Amino acid sequence: MQVYLDNAATTALLPEVFDAMAPYLKKVYGNPSSTHSAGRESRAAIELARKSIAHILGVTSKEIIFTSGGTEAINIFLQGITSEYNHFISSRLEHPAVYRTIQYLEKIKLVTVTWVDIESDGSISMDSLSKSLAQHPKSLVVLMHGNNEIGNLLPLDEVSGLCDNYNATLFVDAVQTTGHYPLSLANENIAGLSASAHKFHGPKGVGFLYLKEKTKLNNIYQGGEQERMLRAGTENLASIVGMGKALEIMQASIDKDKAYIESLKKLLILGLSDTINDIQFNGTSAKTDQSMYTLLSASFPPHPNNDMLLFNLDLAGIQVSAGSACASGAVSESHVMQAINHDPERATVRFSFSKNNTPQEIEYVIRKIKEIYYQD
Ligand code: PLP
Repeated sequence: MQVYLDNAATTALLPEVFDAMAPYLKKVYGNPSSTHSAGRESRAAIELARKSIAHILGVTSKEIIFTSGGTEAINIFLQGITSEYNHFISSRLEHPAVYRTIQYLEKIKLVTVTWVDIESDGSISMDSLSKSLAQHPKSLVVLMHGNNEIGNLLPLDEVSGLCDNYNATLFVDAVQTTGHYPLSLANENIAGLSASAHKFHGPKGVGFLYLKEKTKLNNIYQGGEQERMLRAGTENLASIVGMGKALEIMQASIDKDKAYIESLKKLLILGLSDTINDIQFNGTSAKTDQSMYTLLSASFPPHPNNDMLLFNLDLAGIQVSAGSACASGAVSESHVMQAINHDPERATVRFSFSKNNTPQEIEYVIRKIKEIYYQD
């Protein structure tokens, strides 16, 4: 049996998304910037996708900037806003796309940074955030909606309210939650948000930046005038169409998918708790109301087989991750695990689910883990 439980790294393309993209790979190939009919056909498809995404988020089309994914959306925003904001408030639990970008901006002295305190369960200390805002009002606050390693969800309304009180601006990295949670941005005090299609069953290498009207960014690229001059370069036509389709499909079944996927996650929590003595769950990941229903980060007790755990799971056909896929290859624990003081003697396995998984797969995983874990 092959069980793919690494959906926080990437998801499978939906067949309907592939079908929607196919004409734009096979026959519609005009450059969207060309004024002739072939170009206009491509432009129309891009604008339709933009309109659909904007409608789903409750914003206007011109507030959606197409990018090559989450990382580019984050860089366009964070690097582009430094002429307006020179103090950032963020956390050490951010994805490297955010974390390293902020460290870079700090290093080249474009910004100073306050790193907010983290609670022992990996949540952002609201007290620390309030204090940081009181010390540095009018800052840019940069926080992720759903943590890609431990699954913690940010209390978005509370954070956006706090930013409002201190006249601060908020950027949200929603790469893990877009398409999985109903994001209604119309009434939120959010100036920018990043999303990436391959995390919600769309194609890889495409994403978007939501940029609230009147938020001024300097362009970090020099080139053509595409995407309000913020992302110069010919648009990824077929992928943009695919992303629009994927978000539409995901949005239409959010509640149903959530209920189904959450039941799989609960099954795994129960199964692992019954099978492995002293299993723990990182962050708020086992609390279904405070974490993403798509992710469970398990912490296995020290064991001679821990080094081989992922390898053995792979041999059994089970694809999971030790931490962040983007941070794989690193020998030491990820910066997130270090920030939450995870015991390095314990082994972390990130299970991340999609609607393509089944209860039979979860039962298989529990059975195999028991075999692997107690094989000696
Ligand atoms: N932000 C988060 C929370 C992520 O999980 C990822 C990817 O794993 C990114 C940003 C980067 O997105 P992309 O790979 O589309 O550049």
